[in-house]
Amino acid sequence: MLNFEFMNPTKVLFGKGQIASLAKEVPSDARILMLYGGGSIKKNGIYEQVKDALKGFDVLEFSGIPANPEYEVLLEALKMIREEKISFMLAVGGGSVIDGVKFLSAAALYKGDNPWDILSLKIRTEKGLPFGTVLTLPATASEMNSGAVISRKATQEKFSMGGPGLFPKFSILDPQVVASIPERQLANGITDAFTHVLEQYMTYPSGALLQDRIAEGIMQTLVEVAPRVIKDPSDYEAAANFMWSCTMALNGLIQKGVPTDWAVHFMGHELTALFGIDHARTLAIIAPSHYRYNFESKKEKLAQYAERVWGITTGTLEEKATAGIKATENFFHSLEIDTKLSEYTPEFKGTAQIIFRRFTDRGWLGLGEHKSLTPADVEKIVEMSY
Ligand code: NAP
Ligand code: FE
Repeated sequence: MLNFEFMNPTKVLFGKGQIASLAKEVPSDARILMLYGGGSIKKNGIYEQVKDALKGFDVLEFSGIPANPEYEVLLEALKMIREEKISFMLAVGGGSVIDGVKFLSAAALYKGDNPWDILSLKIRTEKGLPFGTVLTLPATASEMNSGAVISRKATQEKFSMGGPGLFPKFSILDPQVVASIPERQLANGITDAFTHVLEQYMTYPSGALLQDRIAEGIMQTLVEVAPRVIKDPSDYEAAANFMWSCTMALNGLIQKGVPTDWAVHFMGHELTALFGIDHARTLAIIAPSHYRYNFESKKEKLAQYAERVWGITTGTLEEKATAGIKATENFFHSLEIDTKLSEYTPEFKGTAQIIFRRFTDRGWLGLGEHKSLTPADVEKIVEMSY
């Protein structure tokens, strides 16, 4: 096991009716900016619940943060934060709204002239403008981590950022919000969370026995509840387990003491930036090819995964490892998620070469847990995913 430090300062308020607890978590003297997305919260009653809970507080609103939060839109919110002297933000939404608010948290206190530098120069944020979240879509775990991913429309770029100053002060997780989530987004949430676990688990060497077991438990729980959540998102028990599994998948716990990969995410981000494909679906496109391409180095872990998560106990190590990749693909298909790029866009040819050039130009010369995947390897993996 590798050395590690672990601190996660986000307070989680989980369960039915927890949105009403907002008043005791938000600083009473704050000038608050409530930020949300395209309006789903106005249809499912979450907006009213938040407004009711914040009666008597000084609250302004910023709406219209799009999926894959756009830098261009966030700059408008940044202007408002400055002009209105906002001292606390409340993100009400899924990963996109929360990530957007994290960018704003960093940008509001950033001393440089160009906030895009935070992303392009990977500037870590030690202290941000404080914020809390009301999660409406289990998927990313952004509600309990300090990372964010921001897109820039003009240049078709999608970059990640982070820093210890970007943990939410609190996050409210009421599984009842799951009832209104469309099937497509439920499938995305399950797939994103599952792949988060894979990216932290499917590495070598690990020697972190407890982290492995926790990771396997999260994946098993997602596999168990997926059909229930899809069939009936108002099944509270299924929704609660889905929600907490997504948060646990990327709140830092299972990444401690282990090497982590994240190559699938880096490649996936390019597919969203180029074609606008939903984040989770880009991961389902890349992951099977990534594990097939890196089979030799990952086969022992793949076989362990096949055995423990999918109950595949017969065959040689190689056969089990191969069956594990197939089971992953089948799982995504069971959620009606396609796993080939050509199923999403007729413009797929040449994508691998575009990504090769982008990674080379950016100096991203070594991805994966050993920083050994070159742009040429990336090109081959993306080509395998056509
Ligand atoms: P999302 O982009 O936040 O939301 C997707 C859609 O779901 C939106 O149209 C949203 O509508 C709708 N929605 C949300 N809650 C709903 C509800 N309760 N009922 C009905 N509709 C609802 O999806 P996401 O998967 O959570 O976030 C994806 C983003 O997070 C990507 O940019 C990805 O790269 C990033 N990400 C971040 C991390 C991290 O650690 N920070 C990890 C992985 C991925 P409205 O706009 O109307 O609300
Ligand atoms: Fe993700």
